[in-house]
Amino acid sequence: MFNRLPLACMTLAVAITATAQDYPTRTVTMVVPYAAGGPTDTVARVLAQAMTKPMGQTVVVENKPSAGGILGPEQVKNAKPDGYTILIHHIGMATIPALYRQLRFNPLTDFEYIGLVNDVPMTIIGKPALPANNLKELLAYIKANKDKVTYANAGIGAASHLCGMLFMSAIGTDVLTVPYKGTGPAMNDLLGGQVDFMCDQTTSTTGQIKGGKVKVYGLTSKQRVASLPDVPTLDEQGLKGAEVGIWHALYAPKGTPKPVIDKLVAAMQEALRDEGVRKRYTDLGAVTFPPDKQTPQALEQHLKAELNKWAPIIKKAGVYAD
Ligand code: ASP
Repeated sequence: MFNRLPLACMTLAVAITATAQDYPTRTVTMVVPYAAGGPTDTVARVLAQAMTKPMGQTVVVENKPSAGGILGPEQVKNAKPDGYTILIHHIGMATIPALYRQLRFNPLTDFEYIGLVNDVPMTIIGKPALPANNLKELLAYIKANKDKVTYANAGIGAASHLCGMLFMSAIGTDVLTVPYKGTGPAMNDLLGGQVDFMCDQTTSTTGQIKGGKVKVYGLTSKQRVASLPDVPTLDEQGLKGAEVGIWHALYAPKGTPKPVIDKLVAAMQEALRDEGVRKRYTDLGAVTFPPDKQTPQALEQHLKAELNKWAPIIKKAGVYAD
């Protein structure tokens, strides 16, 4: 009995290694923590499609929408750590922990890191019928109508929540916030005139801005973006303190074997070298991280630095969810 145990363990170890080495033999699911049609979904779909070739298997996107994007990470944390379920998330992985008193996942201990994908600026946009035509007019309009103006976001912990929090603190005025389970549905309501304004990634707003479907008041980046050359930054218009970039990254459940993670890293890197992917991201205002950041180590460092950066800012704002 005692002699057989190590042999059984060895057999199991060999079986797991062999499975990891054969990986992948079937479809891989990339979980998106927000609704379809939104910016995170767009970044994910471009990447998933481009990873299909180097993976040799289809990579499909599965939306797990929830306000704040908190259910997607939980689903992936609880998935089998075999590489067939992975997570794409954004800056929310660094802001959610400071905002939720009861969170059922820990970004630092429940995941294996794959790498950083891209960084996307946000835009302050308004419904077509909003009377304000520029930032100055928007600020005057908000101040004069602060009891009836509505701001749409994707729930506490979302990038749009973070941006709204910074924006309202920078202008010294709070307005009524309407939460959605992603900014895809929020954009539909903005276009329909049910909400007044929002802050969303250029990956979702570029088409609407270029098509003249929404009003635009400024970018949250330090510099203008090539895809929207006429849109000024908030900073250059004198509004300081609302600067934020939305970075995206890939994760796998804790305990996913190293050979599997290595394959996922290689496939992500190959996808991000693809000219079509780079062009698509650039056209949407996204900046792909350089190759030395497309690694598990760089993601771990970045996540830790971002957690440390945002925790005191969020604490100062005094916002919490249960
Ligand atoms: N833009 C959303 C956010 O505010 C997420 C999304 O719908 O992709 O985080």
